[in-house]
Amino acid sequence: MTLYQRTYHWLRRHQLLRQNVQRILTRPAIQTNPLYHRIYHRRIQKIMSQGEPFPLRVQIEVTNRCNARCLMCPRDRLRRPLGVMPRSLSANIIDQCAAGGTHEVILSGYGEPLLDPHLEERITYAKEQGLPRVSTFTNGALLDEDRAHSLLSVPLDAITFSFDGATRQVYEHIRRGLSYNQVVENITRFRTLRDQRGQTLPIIYMNMVQQHDNMAETGAFMDRWQELADYVFVTALHNMGGVDKITALGPAVGSPRQYPCYHLWTGLTIYWDGTVGLCCVDFDGASIMGDLNKSSIREIWTESAFRAVRDWHQAGQYDRHPLCKDCTADHSWWHQV
Ligand code: SF4
Repeated sequence: MTLYQRTYHWLRRHQLLRQNVQRILTRPAIQTNPLYHRIYHRRIQKIMSQGEPFPLRVQIEVTNRCNARCLMCPRDRLRRPLGVMPRSLSANIIDQCAAGGTHEVILSGYGEPLLDPHLEERITYAKEQGLPRVSTFTNGALLDEDRAHSLLSVPLDAITFSFDGATRQVYEHIRRGLSYNQVVENITRFRTLRDQRGQTLPIIYMNMVQQHDNMAETGAFMDRWQELADYVFVTALHNMGGVDKITALGPAVGSPRQYPCYHLWTGLTIYWDGTVGLCCVDFDGASIMGDLNKSSIREIWTESAFRAVRDWHQAGQYDRHPLCKDCTADHSWWHQV
């Protein structure tokens, strides 16, 4: 692990410090400072050159079905059909990722991965092909004891539990359709079983998406999960490329647009049917960049559609793409480890 990676992981364990560092780094005075610009620019160039031939991180939406109706989730505006990715398609994608040098495959998208009956098989296959890191995100509601054993029996590297609140009242207000007590029990049991099996993997992350309604519970959330999870972190709600209802739920975030967005050079978002979106913000496939049933990852990643948006970003013309225009997602290249 490099010194940068060690520092990054240490900061992730110290959320308040991390948020303060982030706040300082996004100040206009810092962003326009020539020395900062030189250091940051060098970092951007390095990551761009690593990610340009092939995506470093590939997000595979195993399903877009979900068992919750979270307040800030744009799924109620989804026009894409619902489904589960065919096993042959995910195997093909994983083969390409392994050959292309992808660092991480994230088996998650705009749905609940535990609704995928093939999740464990896909995890095992990805690790067998040599993917360095395989991870998933879940709301944890379906993680009963049997499923916990099942997930702990496959070589999953990391699991992130999305848990947006510290009290039952706030949690159930935001994570509509889920039971606070049930999810707490599931996550606690998962950690206990992992320890009883003598495993250190998967690494357990707890994540809260900070928004107006749970802002006051940030500290309590951190305290609540500090012991149980390996990492606890808080991410600020962004507007999914300009969805009004989400903008209304959270504070405006995102660094001032001085630099291109790192998603365009590092991460590929694949929907369950094999089509590829602009980035993880593109929940409904508003900007389809290609179809893996017809082309390879390398072709799509290096072809004109992605190139055009990258060129606009490099020229500072962020407004030319309708999703990037109003996007408040965090674009910082410091997050890329
Ligand atoms: S600016 Fe926003 S919409 Fe555009 S690529 Fe980056 S994350 Fe996606």
